[in-house]
Amino acid sequence: MGDVTAVAHTNLDVPWALRWMELAHATMREQRSHLMALDRAIGDGDHGDNLDRGFTAAAAALAQTDPGDIGAVLKTVAMTLMSTVGGAAGPLYGTAFLRAATATTTPDIDGPALVAALDAAATGIAARGKATVGEKTMLDAWIPAVTAARTALADGAEPGAILEAAAAAAEQGARDTEPMVATKGRASYLGERSAGHRDPGAESSAMLLRCAAEAAESRATANEAT
Ligand code: ADP
Ligand code: MG
Repeated sequence: MGDVTAVAHTNLDVPWALRWMELAHATMREQRSHLMALDRAIGDGDHGDNLDRGFTAAAAALAQTDPGDIGAVLKTVAMTLMSTVGGAAGPLYGTAFLRAATATTTPDIDGPALVAALDAAATGIAARGKATVGEKTMLDAWIPAVTAARTALADGAEPGAILEAAAAAAEQGARDTEPMVATKGRASYLGERSAGHRDPGAESSAMLLRCAAEAAESRATANEAT
């Protein structure tokens, strides 16, 4: 470790992306009822079901393909989420993955490419949802995540550590939605009564980024063992 070859291994690769999607599939299944409960409080209660269905379908779609690069993985996930998730979250997550896929032009992802992909995802969600920070949506997890990722990159962090910083910031961002009053999506119908509950989409976004960080961590451990 510490030499030039070891540093090259810190780039994110196709096995990382596939591992990420495996973890996302398992996590959305495990957290399905937690996400349903959050969405029951300020929405229609289907968020956990929507994402469980979507990431199960994405895992099945990936099992049928042999992606040559990360962009191809992200694109398959985007298309699958768009056609299976439904509701508000389907087009939003679909757009996020599609924009990230388009921003990913190299087979492996280094720090700058990772930050560019995260930024493209967040910008895509904002454009598609016509939302901004503080509206109690998934953007309140994504925007702090991108900011933290950019800071970590500037501090010289490698992709795994950048993802760790992004996941931690997204988790904090999701907690920070609790006092907010929703002004976008179904939760906005509740007005002031939406305050006091965590936004389900911000929570699932934080979970997704946590899975990305865990996938990088498990890849690093696997590389060390060889
Ligand atoms: P639906 O609201 O159609 O039932 P979901 O329950 O699957 O869809 O997803 C709800 C989540 O989608 C919300 O918690 C919020 O994070 C996100 N969301 C809804 N509308 C917007 C929007 N305009 N911009 C960004 N995110 C949004
Ligand atoms: Mg819902």
